[in-house]
Amino acid sequence: MSGPTAAERPTAGPDDLRPTRRPTVTVDVGGVLVGGDHPIVVQSMTNTDTADADATALQVAQLAHAGSELVRVTVNTEAAAAAVPEIVGKLHRLGVDVPMIGDFHYNGHILLVKYPETARLLAKYRINPGNVGAKRHDEHFKTIVRVAIDNDKPVRIGVNWGSLDQQLLTELMDANARHDDPRDSRDVMIEAMIQSAVRSAELAEATGLPHDRMILSAKVSGVRDLVDVYRRLAALTDLPLHLGLTEAGLGMKGTVASAAGLAILLNEGIGDTIRVSLTPAPGGDRTEEVLVAQQVLQSLGLRSFLPQVSACPGCGRTTSTFFQEMAQQIQDYLRDRMPEWRETHRGVEDLRVAVMGCVVNGPGESKHADIGISLPGTFEEPVAPVFIDGRLDRTLRGEGLVDEFKEILESYVTRRYPAPAG
Ligand code: SF4
Repeated sequence: MSGPTAAERPTAGPDDLRPTRRPTVTVDVGGVLVGGDHPIVVQSMTNTDTADADATALQVAQLAHAGSELVRVTVNTEAAAAAVPEIVGKLHRLGVDVPMIGDFHYNGHILLVKYPETARLLAKYRINPGNVGAKRHDEHFKTIVRVAIDNDKPVRIGVNWGSLDQQLLTELMDANARHDDPRDSRDVMIEAMIQSAVRSAELAEATGLPHDRMILSAKVSGVRDLVDVYRRLAALTDLPLHLGLTEAGLGMKGTVASAAGLAILLNEGIGDTIRVSLTPAPGGDRTEEVLVAQQVLQSLGLRSFLPQVSACPGCGRTTSTFFQEMAQQIQDYLRDRMPEWRETHRGVEDLRVAVMGCVVNGPGESKHADIGISLPGTFEEPVAPVFIDGRLDRTLRGEGLVDEFKEILESYVTRRYPAPAG
């Protein structure tokens, strides 16, 4: 099979295949620019008790270290609101300056007024219009918006179908029932979500919040519903959209469902910041949601975060586990080296590596990578050709093969991505 060699390939994916982003205003979230033609921002949320400043600061730092560019914490109680300055102080001492977002429900209008230092230190406030109170909804909503105006902060108007504004939904359901040709209830629910977001944005702007201080989201837990909601919302507003499947679920289900929903929309140019809402296993690693979000963007050729390893699935021609072990070791090695390489070798995140199981597709795939190795399959001669920039460079054999390949990777990275001058 013929094709461009690694040296001829564009770095993160062919430009003409990348979607055109839908035009939006740019919103500054604590120095991170969301929307416009800025890179799609990866964000995450802690699951610690925010009132526990030590645990929360540690997890914010871990999420930031994993690559989360914004981190949200719930601010649900007075103790949580009071802890925010302490968390920010701890992060500062750790050298972590990731913007922290406060997630408010039910009592945001009270907490943000009562804890002005918290209001000052948070980079953005998330308001759920379905959870600001039924009776004095607009008054509470406007109180939060005024705090945002006074502190020059953006807000995210974050609608969620699990806490949709019931009054609005009832109004639309009743109006639909009176219609000669009523729509199905799913359609009305989606309409209610969109109207909740759009009307809230209008109310915020009427209260005095500048247009470029708002981000919208309307999250649901089904992929088809997500696509439908965001396509319709995107057609109505030039505000940046925060994308994510809410309550995506556990493990593989959550990962695949999130990737499926996000990929459809991102590929249509919809979405300016993303979160993958995975449910971690008990005691599991919260940073997984950051890695999945990064991988979604990198798989679509939208951003690069980490050198990518292509590896074949293996088959009856690879009867030992050596090939799987080597692919895993190389992937782990690249991930471990990235914190240093990111500083010293700009662009290394675009590196492509292939670890292949046998001669059938091994040399071909290796030639398309920057560096590739084709391991010997069962009954093949015990040698492993290494391809660099599409050309056979050398042949490895014997027990030290993995370490030798790592050395080749190191010297390639040093040569191909020189340290910035000065
Ligand atoms: S490259 Fe070889 S080992 Fe890998 S899947 Fe293809 S035939 Fe099987």
